[in-house]
Amino acid sequence: MIDLSEIKGIGINTLRYLNDLGINNLDDLVTYYPFRYDVYEKTDMDKIKNGDHVVIDGICENNPNVFHFSRKLNKMSFRFNTGKKIYNVTIFNRAYLKNKIKPGMALTIIGKYDTKHRGIVANNLEFGMLLKTKITPVYHSNFKITSKKIHQIITSVVDKVKVTDYVPETFNQKYNLIEKNKALKIIHNPSSLELLEKAKQKLKYEELFVFMLKMSYLKQGHKKNTGLERKVNFDKVKGKMENLPFKLTRDQEKAVKNIYDDLISSRQMNRLLQGDVGSGKTIVSFFALFINYLSGYQGALMAPTEILALQHYNNIKKVFPELKVGLLKGKLKVKERREILAGLADGTIDVVIGTHALISDDVVYQNLGLVITDEQHRFGVMQRGNLKNKGQMPDILYMSATPIPRTYALTLYGDMDISSIKTMPNGRKPVKTFLKSNKEIKDVLYLMLDEIKKNHQIYVVAPLVEESDKIDLENVYELADKMNKAFGKVCDIGVLHGKMSNKEKDEVMTKFKEGKTKILISTTVIEVGVDVANATMMVIFDSFRFGLSALHQLRGRVGRNDLDSYCVLISDRETKRLQILTETNDGFKISEEDFKLRGSGDLFGLRQSGDMHFKIADIKQDFNLLLTVKEDCENYLKELEASKAVILQDILQTTNNLD
Ligand code: ADP
Ligand code: MG
Repeated sequence: MIDLSEIKGIGINTLRYLNDLGINNLDDLVTYYPFRYDVYEKTDMDKIKNGDHVVIDGICENNPNVFHFSRKLNKMSFRFNTGKKIYNVTIFNRAYLKNKIKPGMALTIIGKYDTKHRGIVANNLEFGMLLKTKITPVYHSNFKITSKKIHQIITSVVDKVKVTDYVPETFNQKYNLIEKNKALKIIHNPSSLELLEKAKQKLKYEELFVFMLKMSYLKQGHKKNTGLERKVNFDKVKGKMENLPFKLTRDQEKAVKNIYDDLISSRQMNRLLQGDVGSGKTIVSFFALFINYLSGYQGALMAPTEILALQHYNNIKKVFPELKVGLLKGKLKVKERREILAGLADGTIDVVIGTHALISDDVVYQNLGLVITDEQHRFGVMQRGNLKNKGQMPDILYMSATPIPRTYALTLYGDMDISSIKTMPNGRKPVKTFLKSNKEIKDVLYLMLDEIKKNHQIYVVAPLVEESDKIDLENVYELADKMNKAFGKVCDIGVLHGKMSNKEKDEVMTKFKEGKTKILISTTVIEVGVDVANATMMVIFDSFRFGLSALHQLRGRVGRNDLDSYCVLISDRETKRLQILTETNDGFKISEEDFKLRGSGDLFGLRQSGDMHFKIADIKQDFNLLLTVKEDCENYLKELEASKAVILQDILQTTNNLD
């Protein structure tokens, strides 16, 4: 594959800006789809009324007149001949174009028909005539690189890229889908709306098809009545429930019961446990591990970060001291690692908790009966599949803090069962949430000071530039500097970011957990699921960069006991959207709102957060297509099975979804 830096027009800076947008290779580049199009179509001026939007082309009749009202406000006007009629065109604040516009020149005018100005008030003009419909793609960009530049770069390579079309020929024919290469070209440079529609249709179909194939890979071999046989007396489970430091909520109890029923039935469990942040999913998963242990099997719990794995490890040992638990993370001393691997192989370890280290090849279990994935959307299909394959038909439990509406969940996850925890543990107060602008930062600092005086702790989430570790780092340290200036004399401040070694992260986290540092500044990447009950405040810079669900998850880090707690969203943009968070604490409702406002693309918060990150399809808007694809995919797999072919490995490796 060609390297991005080899492409003409991409220098070091441009490369960095592209990386900031999550574009790291040619494939990312050509699938960086426009998020909308500006469509210019010639207006029929015979039917026009005052105030209508118009696009017309014609010839400029005279040298423009310019009038300066003030230094900031000027007006330019000229006569404009469409061949049928002459209009007076007025355009504000474009005096700099005066010398570029000459009599006899062909122009396209975009603006509003305005009888008061006796003609057209333009908001844009382009040189040259509009031949037919003009469609300009608009790309998500940042302050460093424009949509236009992105378009230029993509256009210069899209012809040369050869991509694999994953849609089986039968379906290409059945739906009259165009070739993928062609679709890619069109999506970036559509010559008509009809063609654009065709291109979208193809790319959406393919994206959903690949997604569905991946989901079915996960379910491969998952048939009813093929699970493990277990015998566990529920009294033992109940006894344990009654001896917890707290009483389980009704939904937690129900979830444990669901899981118990699944586990003792002869059918393989495939269950999603969903519930708001802080709703207490972890303890439910521990019960699953406990029941599994009582029936004589080993269990594995996979967490997305080492910090989380460590937290689960410490907690489960406290609540279930009878379990022999191992912690398996990326960096362990050779001896430690060897001991854990031996324990897993000979069965002396009952439960292992870890990161994706759990799926490395040398991890062998004696009899793995249950696999649990925490924050499941952070893992790819291959990772989840690999964990599962370490056992013989183990039962499976996924946990997720981002609820998705039931219909979608069922369609996407297929025959997965769902348990939902809808209520928070008793005594929780809703997190009071405020929206502040950057100008009001002083108020925020005072609020922080109040909390510190009460000996409480604070999380500060640094402004984040999507997927750019480097800039994130600069931001984190810059912010740490500022915070040190404000609070350096009052308390200690910790800094946590993805580029630290695991040992460093653990140290910082431990200090915060023990209350030695009062303020923890971090990027978001790492703290999902972290549990520090004394933290009562969360400050999130540049909140507009997150989906509502992601923000809601973040603020779920506070309000973990009966203390009053606060979340301050700092943003100068998209305040209307963020407002919703100040009004409700209901995660299910917030995810619905996210859905309405941003489509499913950002359902899981950050763009790169894995599961269901579609580049072009939208599971809400394209729901009908999704249903069609699902059926097609099922039929396709049946035929594959009949002919004993296997799913192409490279489909599973495609990274645009789920990985
Ligand atoms: P999440 O669902 O986000 O993973 P956790 O499982 O981390 O949430 O639980 C958040 C906190 O709530 C933990 O400190 C946990 O010990 C506590 N907790 C869980 N269930 C209850 C309960 N029924 N009553 C009181 N506290 C609970
Ligand atoms: Mg959790």
